[in-house]
Amino acid sequence: MTNPVIQNLESLKRAQSLDSEIHQTHVLQGEIPETRARLNQELEHKKTRLTDLEKTCKELQLKLKEKELELSQKEGQVKKLDGQLSQVKTNKEYSALQQEIASLKADNSLLEEEIIKKMDEVDAIKEEVLKEKERFAEVSKSYQSRDQDLSIQEKNLQNRLQEIIKQREEIVARLPPEIGDLYNRIAMKKEGFALAPVNGDVCSACQMQLRPQVVNELQLGEQIITCENCSRILFYDV
Ligand SMILES: [Zn+2]
Repeated sequence: MTNPVIQNLESLKRAQSLDSEIHQTHVLQGEIPETRARLNQELEHKKTRLTDLEKTCKELQLKLKEKELELSQKEGQVKKLDGQLSQVKTNKEYSALQQEIASLKADNSLLEEEIIKKMDEVDAIKEEVLKEKERFAEVSKSYQSRDQDLSIQEKNLQNRLQEIIKQREEIVARLPPEIGDLYNRIAMKKEGFALAPVNGDVCSACQMQLRPQVVNELQLGEQIITCENCSRILFYDV
């Protein structure tokens, strides 16, 4: 017949292994919101880049419109002055008017060059906006699928957690109450690591050398023995 203390220790080891998984699962669960926040931030950053580009494009288009308006006003002026040419009385007035017209026309041709340059700029940035929009749509899609993966992972972890908590509780409930209570108490204090294997005559959890009497009692295997230093339940890992 198996020694009941050894049987209890075997159950405790199973409980500890589940507690270790519970701890690990909690850690993984805790990482998910951080990962999600990081992904959202990355996406937001990419979105800002697109918005900035669209803003620059709009500003450039506005400047182009202003220049076009200026040109059409100046062309109107040229037309008006052209009309006045036939009405002037003196040569002096005539040549002054002609000079004014020539100067306006020269301004206008510079303006036209500027407008053509601006149109090219607008075309280029429009194309860039389009490409950036496509890129963002793709990136956004991939982020969405990563977010969905995280949700699935979250759900799986939650299910697994419920399952192992139940298993652990069942194991502890089958133990003699004083041992179950002892285990629960230590596990709570030691974040689920209530058991420590003994290495020779040293507690492997706190590295404290055990007294010969403790080693002796442990070897007799008649009762559950705890480490006098870290309070964990000791066992020989054979
Ligand atoms: Zn110890």
